[in-house]
Amino acid sequence: MDIKKVHIVIPIVMAGIIGYLGTKIMDIKKVHIVIPIVMAGIIGYFGTEIMDIKKVHILIPIVMAGIIGYLGIPHISRPSSQPVRQVDLDETSLVISRMSYPQPFVDKPQRTDVLLMSPWLAPIMWEGTFNRDILNAQYRQKKFVVGVATFAVKKYVRFIEGFLGSANKFFLSGHRVNFYLFTDHPEKVPSMKLAPEKSLFIIPVQNYSRWQDISMNRMDIISNRIRTHWHYEVDYLYSMDIDVQMFEHIGVEIIDTLVGTISSWQYTKPRDSNSYERRPESRAAIPSGEGDFYYAASFYGGSVSEVYKLTTACFKGVTEDRANGIEAKWHEESHLNKYLLYHKPTRLLSPEYYWDEELPRPQIIRVKRLSSVRKDLEEVRS
Ligand code: UDP
Ligand code: MN
Repeated sequence: MDIKKVHIVIPIVMAGIIGYLGTKIMDIKKVHIVIPIVMAGIIGYFGTEIMDIKKVHILIPIVMAGIIGYLGIPHISRPSSQPVRQVDLDETSLVISRMSYPQPFVDKPQRTDVLLMSPWLAPIMWEGTFNRDILNAQYRQKKFVVGVATFAVKKYVRFIEGFLGSANKFFLSGHRVNFYLFTDHPEKVPSMKLAPEKSLFIIPVQNYSRWQDISMNRMDIISNRIRTHWHYEVDYLYSMDIDVQMFEHIGVEIIDTLVGTISSWQYTKPRDSNSYERRPESRAAIPSGEGDFYYAASFYGGSVSEVYKLTTACFKGVTEDRANGIEAKWHEESHLNKYLLYHKPTRLLSPEYYWDEELPRPQIIRVKRLSSVRKDLEEVRS
């Protein structure tokens, strides 16, 4: 055999074999065979022309072809119109243990006095509509970590104890939770013994003279912290006011991709008489005739990536309003309402999850899970 040809033929054949085996292992297409063959051919041919050495001309193309064939170039092999999907077919299914509970019936709705589903089929959480044991059994297998971001700036440090004490008991009881407390007075945080699955992280933060700025800047601080830390630390993140206390369990029924709480003040109001920002000059403006529910900024959350998008977008709105010399009617809450109108929440919390202490409790609110602490607004914000 002519020494030159063998340098071309052997690599081509071997590359073909390796490329073909590559496709066997990885389920990629013909291009993985063709590319290594062509490359090996070119290298083998020029190699012999220029250098006239022997085995290296065969070995190098073979190894290269093998690597290329094996690793594959998925984006070349797939038609661009088909998105890349990765489904782990070997993932074991989650089995929940046998348990005994009342049977559900399709003709016996758990509640007929309240809306259980939004028009975009996001469930609305109401007492009496779910079985906490089933939810806990499902959730426990996933080993999620939930973060709670809360702020105690200036005089609001007085609410820390009531918040943490009640959250330790009622918030995702038995599940892992990291409380992230932002404060300008770390030394005033009372030392408290938390349940073993709960952790407290105290993060120093500056204060602002206007309470509105403290409240609005939460969006920016949360967004930045997600990017630098929480992205790696937690699966879900919830932002909560500190001037609240919990009186009943708030469990895994709140966990979903994007979660908003329906305000206790406005849950029956027609959209055109509630508190949306309607002035078109504000970035929080919602045109009249539009709006779903009125959401409370005191409690929202979801997956870390969705909360990142939400807080980043809301703070962008706040910043643009500031530059234009306008402040939305209810500050970041107005921006949140606009965001949640055009990015529909995947789950909604009924006003049970943020009941305003000043309001009489109607029949439909069977439990008050969380409620605001009465405060002298002027005094505490001064
Ligand atoms: N906040 C704070 N210090 C202040 C004002 C506000 O720490 O001086 C934080 C605190 O977490 C509070 C939240 O911002 O719960 C929202 O403010 P506030 O509760 O006064 O608003 P409201 O619920 O009355 O609308
Ligand atoms: Mn509040």
